[in-house]
Amino acid sequence: MSSHTLQKFLTENLEELKGKGLYNVIDPVEGANGPTITIAGRTLINLSSNNYLGLATDSRLINACNEATKKYGVGAGAVRTINGTLDIHVKLEEKLAEFKHTEAAIAYQSGFNCNMAAISAVMDKHDAILSDELNHASIIDGCRLSKAKTIRYNHSDMEDLRAKAKEATSSGLYNKVMVITDGVFSMDGDIAKLPEIVAIAEEFDLITYVDDAHGSGVLGNGAGTVKHFGLSDKVDFQIGTLSKAIGVVGGYVAGRKDLIDWLKVRSRPFLFSTAVTPGAAASCIEAITILMTSTELQTKLWENADYLKKGLKKLGFDIGHSETPITPCIIGEETKTQEFSKRLNEEGVYAKSIVFPTVPQGTGRVRNMPTAAHTKEMLDEALTVYEKVGKEMGII
Ligand SMILES: *Cc1c(COP(=O)(O)O)cnc(C)c1O
Repeated sequence: MSSHTLQKFLTENLEELKGKGLYNVIDPVEGANGPTITIAGRTLINLSSNNYLGLATDSRLINACNEATKKYGVGAGAVRTINGTLDIHVKLEEKLAEFKHTEAAIAYQSGFNCNMAAISAVMDKHDAILSDELNHASIIDGCRLSKAKTIRYNHSDMEDLRAKAKEATSSGLYNKVMVITDGVFSMDGDIAKLPEIVAIAEEFDLITYVDDAHGSGVLGNGAGTVKHFGLSDKVDFQIGTLSKAIGVVGGYVAGRKDLIDWLKVRSRPFLFSTAVTPGAAASCIEAITILMTSTELQTKLWENADYLKKGLKKLGFDIGHSETPITPCIIGEETKTQEFSKRLNEEGVYAKSIVFPTVPQGTGRVRNMPTAAHTKEMLDEALTVYEKVGKEMGII
């Protein structure tokens, strides 16, 4: 017999969510998460994955995964600090450091875990963190976990950041002050103002932390937002994920060697959670090797993104101010946004709606993620559907 208190809590809260239309129903994908996906037997053009370069289904990665699985088995067998560090994990970390132009790197089980791991390994209750108000949920949770004082600054507002940096460093209240930002903001596709952030950090001796989950593989010839601005030696923590453009799973921190040494002895997900599978490590190495030897996939990604953006804009949609392949299509009102996404789905396009509280009220949008794996024909078909549904609903 389960707890009555729990039962009451669950029933009340689930009913409330469902009543408000906020209960998210998950549709399983029947097969690969490629440029098209099959859901409930219907094949749809997929504009919602983070598989920017199409690497999740790349045969070179699949082969690397299979070979490593044959050699090492399916699991790492232990946490990294006992005997779960396979030579393939070390090779991945060396490759990541080379890719990021840093002295060293440490791999984790996910990008989310990186933020759980790295922030609290360095920051504590005697410190303060300046955090962009639109930072990713895992950054927010990582900051909370550290018990440092979190000071939010207005999105990409450098005057606000500077004023708050000045106040925090001159208050005498904190031992260390860090500034944390996404490299690319995932809801609007805008790029953090890293040159200005780094300049402010230098002026006030702030620790710099950039989570480049959506920038790696996309900007800076693949090496990410920090490299894009030529700041590889000016940012203390470069966080990345292996599950978006890299197409597999995992995360990493790249930086100076002593920082990485410290994370290897003090970051809790590294010490207390099993390492990524040998197959995942091997496919990540393969993906990074591909990125470091060719820009073909990035070129295709940007071509496809430009094509989709131009097409949507020409049709009269509001696509916001994205500077990256992330292409929001802003509809506004929440229920209308959800209806728009549903109609796109019925017509063969999978583009998920994103509404309050993930984005501000009244700025509901359908977010499109074009990838290198889409063909022109798929994008044309998607644009035809957008035109049809947009006109039908009076949006364009
Ligand atoms: C997606 C994302 C993460 C999480 O990465 P996972 O590898 O999927 O856990 C972390 N930070 C940011 C900024 C992200 O966009």
